[in-house]
Amino acid sequence: MTFKHLVKTVFLTEIVKGMALTLKTMLTRPVTRQYPKEKRPAMPGFRGLHGLVRDQQTGEARCVGCGLCAAICPSKCIYIYTADSLDHKKIVERYEIEALRCVFCGLCVEACPYSAVILTEHYEYSDYSREAFYMTKEKLLANWDNYMGWEKNMEYFKKFWHPTADDFGFPKNQAVFRGKQNAR
Ligand code: SF4
Ligand code: SF4
Repeated sequence: MTFKHLVKTVFLTEIVKGMALTLKTMLTRPVTRQYPKEKRPAMPGFRGLHGLVRDQQTGEARCVGCGLCAAICPSKCIYIYTADSLDHKKIVERYEIEALRCVFCGLCVEACPYSAVILTEHYEYSDYSREAFYMTKEKLLANWDNYMGWEKNMEYFKKFWHPTADDFGFPKNQAVFRGKQNAR
């Protein structure tokens, strides 16, 4: 037995160290959140349940039925049914998302040229039937109304999904295409 080992045994230093660590842990503020009582606010770009953006003026869905979201969706879980109205305008009769097949990649949101589809901040959903997760146009619009809403989330759209040069700026010395009118 070495002298160091003898001191440790006599003075029980390992036990004292352990007790000190226990005391320190007891005095430290816990970081565990008491979910569901305590909830963390969603970060920008959070990918929760899908929604369709409602146009502020008309109150209708902003979607024009171009199909880009369905084309880019890797899970092929977006279904869009369009028709011609009496005045020869394209109308979106049905817009449906099979949420259980979605991988929440967010590509549909990024691809949409009209900011018409969104992944809301809502993540507390569960059910016993598959039908509950088959999102119809009406359900998707209700999700926008219930979980996003206009005022709150245009900023969210702008900053995360469609960032502009104003939001992030160009890195110094980066070549920027300025268009014909500004060409010298
Ligand atoms: S949600 Fe956007 S990308 Fe998809 S069909 Fe509608 S307008 Fe086109
Ligand atoms: S988040 Fe991805 S997988 Fe889900 S509907 Fe959009 S594109 Fe498809």
